[in-house]
Amino acid sequence: MLQVEGLDVRYGTTHAVRAVDLAVGSGDALAVLGPNGAGKTSTLRAVSGLVPHGGTVRFDGEDVTRLPAEEIARRGLIHVPEGRHVFPDLTVEENLGIGATAQGGRRSEFGIDDVHDLFPALGGLRRRLGFALSGGEQQMVALGRALMGGPRLLLVDEPSLGLSPRLARSVTAALAEIRARVPLVVVEQNVQLALRICPRAAVMVRGEIVLRASRDELDDRDALLASYLGQQDARAT
Ligand code: ATP
Repeated sequence: MLQVEGLDVRYGTTHAVRAVDLAVGSGDALAVLGPNGAGKTSTLRAVSGLVPHGGTVRFDGEDVTRLPAEEIARRGLIHVPEGRHVFPDLTVEENLGIGATAQGGRRSEFGIDDVHDLFPALGGLRRRLGFALSGGEQQMVALGRALMGGPRLLLVDEPSLGLSPRLARSVTAALAEIRARVPLVVVEQNVQLALRICPRAAVMVRGEIVLRASRDELDDRDALLASYLGQQDARAT
């Protein structure tokens, strides 16, 4: 479904992403793990057409490398950015409705009721303005908006960032359900949460993928993973 080859991103003298290859099939979910500054966000932004890059991006058999970001989103390759980007002056309902404008002629298999089933906490907040939402509620709205756009593949950047452990677990549970219906690429620093959603992972360090492994292999290789991620315990929440 998604095939990325030789992806390369430079910001001036910073070589942020170096010849990264990724492939995600239908029914698949890939976690991209790695420490701060490893190039994970830049990888997602390049795939979505949001930063200039080298290499090729093919989506559903079509070369989308040079398409503008809106065209890529209209094809159903939908990016949920880090930081959520909820419209502050619009209500939850209006924020979700805006997602539907990315459908580009496709019908989303997710409607407003599906979004509320996945995120029951949004039920009582339909008329609340974006600026008055907590970080966790914003994350739910951002994911809900992406679902309303009829994603054929979702790129999700650090969904647990800044959330309490409880909210991070509930967003993770929703993503695990979403993954049964839509292929995903999930960028995370929280290895444990990422592997609850995705059966395999690619670990990035300094712009390169240094390790690819299944969830089970990573279970057996905690120490190795921790050394790549520069953490004492890579599985800690
Ligand atoms: P984090 O988890 O901290 O978001 P990351 O793995 O997503 O990190 P990126 O945000 O992709 O990493 O950053 C990769 C490198 O590129 C870093 O050295 C970062 O400082 C640099 N970088 C990212 N965005 C820009 C930019 N707009 N201009 C210049 N340098 C940038």
